[in-house]
Amino acid sequence: MRTPLLTAALVALPAAAAAHGINGHVHVTGWAIESLPPGPLADLFADPEVKDAALIGAAFPDSGYAIDDGYGELAHWEPFVEAHVQYVAELCGPDFATLECRKHVAFLMGGAAHGLQDELFDSLFLFQLMEHDGQGQEAADPGTDAFLFTDGHLRFKPPLYAPFEHLPAVFERAHGHAVTPRTIENGLQRVKFLVIDNFSALAPGFDEEYRPLLPWGSQHYLDPAVPGSLASEVGPTAAYMQALWDRLHGRHALPAVVTWTYPDGGRRLRSVRSGTVDGWVTVVFGVGARVGSLNGDTVRLLDPQGAPIDVRVQHTRWGGSPDDSTRLVRLIPQVDLAHDTVYTVEIGAGVQLMDGRVTVETWSTPVRTPCADPMAAGCVDPEPDPFPPPPPPDAAAPDAAVTDAALADAALADAAPSDAAADAGPPDRGRIDLPTPDASMFDAAPVAPRDAAPAPDAAPPVASSDDDGCAAAPGGGAAAWGLLALPLLALRRRRRRGIPTP
Ligand SMILES: [Zn+2]
Repeated sequence: MRTPLLTAALVALPAAAAAHGINGHVHVTGWAIESLPPGPLADLFADPEVKDAALIGAAFPDSGYAIDDGYGELAHWEPFVEAHVQYVAELCGPDFATLECRKHVAFLMGGAAHGLQDELFDSLFLFQLMEHDGQGQEAADPGTDAFLFTDGHLRFKPPLYAPFEHLPAVFERAHGHAVTPRTIENGLQRVKFLVIDNFSALAPGFDEEYRPLLPWGSQHYLDPAVPGSLASEVGPTAAYMQALWDRLHGRHALPAVVTWTYPDGGRRLRSVRSGTVDGWVTVVFGVGARVGSLNGDTVRLLDPQGAPIDVRVQHTRWGGSPDDSTRLVRLIPQVDLAHDTVYTVEIGAGVQLMDGRVTVETWSTPVRTPCADPMAAGCVDPEPDPFPPPPPPDAAAPDAAVTDAALADAALADAAPSDAAADAGPPDRGRIDLPTPDASMFDAAPVAPRDAAPAPDAAPPVASSDDDGCAAAPGGGAAAWGLLALPLLALRRRRRRGIPTP
């Protein structure tokens, strides 16, 4: 029987430990890599070691929350990404010839992809869940990760890697934030151990908890036609990686700033009605833009005669001030649109990018609305390809069958740091010697009540980088899990500084 303490742990832990969730980030990034067209970027990821660096990079931003250090929040956003691009270009450009350089590039792309995916998921899909299921991210984050597991889609378990010795310099350059390689490594170890390697021990309980709360979400979290779903993130993630590749090579052209638009895939807008997220049009960028430069003067929706439609211009969900960065802009019609009509989205010149450039040309694209009878001839959206795409022939099998303790123990054995990571520092940073998690451990673990966590709108903590946390967790068993879980309870995901925008 589930005790109140266990309930508190299971409710509190996922919101802390499984942002987006993390397995979603890893897999959307992996699917995006596998969807790349032939070319230099696909060639980069042809080396499995390089691809793994991108996959663990996709878990990296949330690792700062796991170690209670502000680097995690900073890593989510474009100012850090741009500083990272410049740092790696100086370190490894223009040929990025060595394996370590190629892994560093891949890690950068994985981390940047995570930030973009959070912006898409929070700014679009969470509003879908609110409309359909009346739920928010507290259910969506752990729920979608658990659905991925239960539905048999988890197959990526990247080994521990990061350019640990370089990352502190990037945080210093971008934000003057001091953090040590050891803190970053411990944070990433925690995320990998708990949320990636041993998620099989927790996922069934999360699924049981959240699937009943998300009847629509559990059916549509992989629906490519729903903007912000995990499936819908794959295309813009791949496009963002291409933009980052061009930025690393100093050839990112202003006309290529826009990388994606929802609706996508030849589909029509999902609704003509105002007041529903299905009526929103969203434009995605391959570089951060200044929130204050995307406004009614630069962002327009035009009817077929070229007359402007009354729209509210919104940015990333957590971007509350003009100087914040955003990788998307939402056009929210304030009036109902006409059926079966082609409107035009227009982004005018004057958009300020976080790398200092300003757009000088107008970009535009057509958007079609649905027919009054969506099943009428010529009105049906194209059928999407089955999703997720089948893995390449040499890929590992899905992980859904990993539910018993023996197999989870095997995953635990993989939690030991890689040779490369071990080489990056003293041996006491090594393996986290903890038992495989299961629900019974939380019955005895000293788990804080949910309301002990910081207020949702509080600024993310910027803790001392000397606090190395769980490098050596004494005690083992429930006590060790309590030590691991407690810092995670204070984990904050994504920026809460800004005022959430509807
Ligand atoms: Zn995140």
